[in-house]
Amino acid sequence: MGNIVAIVGRPNVGKSTLYNRLTETRKAIVDDMSGVTRDRHYGVAEWTDKSFTVIDTGGYVANSEDVFEIAIREQVIIAIEEATAIIFMVDVVTGTTDLDDEIAGVLRRSKKPVFVAANKVDNNMLLAQSAEFYGFGLGEVYCISSMTGSGTGELLDEVVKTF
Ligand code: GDP
Ligand code: MG
Repeated sequence: MGNIVAIVGRPNVGKSTLYNRLTETRKAIVDDMSGVTRDRHYGVAEWTDKSFTVIDTGGYVANSEDVFEIAIREQVIIAIEEATAIIFMVDVVTGTTDLDDEIAGVLRRSKKPVFVAANKVDNNMLLAQSAEFYGFGLGEVYCISSMTGSGTGELLDEVVKTF
């Protein structure tokens, strides 16, 4: 299947918005490719001269916080197994949550390249607030706006270097 980039993160940080932006020009081709769960969408994206598969994780259905956390943890573990590179998305408006910290912990133990994307940086005033995400210990923080596309090019430049 070639190179795979998984977008992980807690609900509402903007994963699907980025996924839609990346796969916009090439329609999502396969749903549920791995047969693992309905909660994953696969699409094709292109950046510079490289084509790759993007996985959007999410759509969690859970009736308690514990089950919810387990579902997210499971998605992250599958992403680590399947992906060439992982985009760990967080939300600059809400800042770091316990769930972010938990996901970061799982990702730190993985051997795959992880790119921290601070989403919803729609304007320069929000740039400074992204500094807290260096606290994950996952290296560089890429400030992006999935809505406007700002910063996504710089992020993708680095992601495709891992292929
Ligand atoms: P997901 O649950 O992580 O897949 O998040 P979604 O992509 O569904 O987005 C959750 C909400 O955040 C939606 O209302 C989006 O419109 C909004 N959103 C996504 N990206 C951005 C962004 O870059 N800036 C702002 N201001 N809102 C965003
Ligand atoms: Mg989503």
